[in-house]
Amino acid sequence: MAISDKDFQDIKDRIAKFVQQELLGNEKQFQAKHTFADHLPYLEEKRNQVREMGLFTPQIPKEYGGLGLSLHQLGQIYEILASTFYGLYVFNCQAPDAGNMEILMDHGTDYQKETFLKPLIAGKIRSCFSMTEPEFAGSNPLMMGTIAKKEGSNYIINGHKWFTSSAEGANFAIAMVVTDPDNPNPYLRASQIIVPTDTEGFNFIRNISVMGDEGDGWNAHAEIRYENCTVPEENVLGTPGAGFKIAQDRLGPGRIHHCMRWIGECERAFDMMCERAVSREIAPGKTLASKQTIQNWIADSRAEINASRLMVLDAASKIDKSGAASAKIEISTIKFFVAQVLQNVLDRAVQTHGALGMTDDTFLASLWRHERSARIYDGADEVHRSRVAREILKEYSK
Ligand SMILES: Cc1cc2nc3c(=O)[nH]c(=O)nc-3n(C[C@H](O)[C@H](O)[C@H](O)COP(=O)(O)OP(=O)(O)OC[C@H]3O[C@@H](n4cnc5c(N)ncnc54)[C@H](O)[C@@H]3O)c2cc1C
Repeated sequence: MAISDKDFQDIKDRIAKFVQQELLGNEKQFQAKHTFADHLPYLEEKRNQVREMGLFTPQIPKEYGGLGLSLHQLGQIYEILASTFYGLYVFNCQAPDAGNMEILMDHGTDYQKETFLKPLIAGKIRSCFSMTEPEFAGSNPLMMGTIAKKEGSNYIINGHKWFTSSAEGANFAIAMVVTDPDNPNPYLRASQIIVPTDTEGFNFIRNISVMGDEGDGWNAHAEIRYENCTVPEENVLGTPGAGFKIAQDRLGPGRIHHCMRWIGECERAFDMMCERAVSREIAPGKTLASKQTIQNWIADSRAEINASRLMVLDAASKIDKSGAASAKIEISTIKFFVAQVLQNVLDRAVQTHGALGMTDDTFLASLWRHERSARIYDGADEVHRSRVAREILKEYSK
């Protein structure tokens, strides 16, 4: 049963209060300490508080212990949590775990749910998603070199992946691998297989040094080599050959999560820009706010953020009503549009702060570094633009 507007407002207010009181005030310590392991005791303490409030893992259906929110409602929660770096992690709705939970809820067997999903929902373990490969264009996932060969009741995986985010310290990976290379339908060639990270042959090579993600553990992106990595066939998700279908199911809601998170980040940067504009004196009695260029940045940012929110919530409503397949154009449109709005707003906020914007004395510089990749991950801008145009033009060529 859908949650009432009043109950939802109450949840939003409680989450906003928690973020304000418990997380925003403690951000400085994250800038001072750099390893994820250093942050864990503090993060676990905050997670326990969220568990006690009954708001942990809010994104999942009630039957799995979540809040049973619609995607439209969930988007609004993501926006609030994203105003601070660890907000989503503290509520256990961070990528890539949230996406992996969805896959396991929709396609997992009883064994897979018991072994992998349950502890993931409880926040006892972490996971990663291992698809992109350095030797092949990630923009065309039909081109993949990692092969899983069936031998008896096992699959033997060999291949090379990178940008397996959060792999260090993860308990398992969901690996996208080719299981049927000769299938005439290229969309039936790949499968998703659960690989426990302590399996022999799951070789963690390194955390790649990535702009904005210079950390470790959950905050890093790993290179992995699968070398005769052997897993039982019961680790295949759904049916063999269903890899692309499962990936497709996951992408719609995932993009709503990303975009609403970016809007939360925009709002934070916007606040900082406005506060700086009214407080920075540039001549006796005159602040930055008196300059038309700054006023234009503020007005343009407000308009772009508001437009983004409406577009994303509209896409979320469409998915809630008729499924992700009905909202292909909307999903791709928000992915490239909001990623660019995020770059615009962050850049204006940094510029308004002058030299201070380049330092790590505020949250802005790390956000700017971290989110340049928004235009690349989960489909580069160019791929989404092209998809939107193709879908629109289909109608015109009929
Ligand atoms: C921070 C971050 C986290 C990530 N996390 C994960 C993860 O957890 N798991 C995972 O498997 N992957 C992950 N990725 C990988 C990501 O999904 C890929 O980077 C993305 O799909 C693009 O693939 P590629 O890097 O191989 O770029 P390529 O496919 O080589 O494309 C390079 C560029 O070419 C252009 N281009 C490509 N195709 C077209 C086209 N059709 N038309 C016009 N221009 C085009 C685009 O400008 C694109 O940026 C992550 C990436 C980043 C940056």
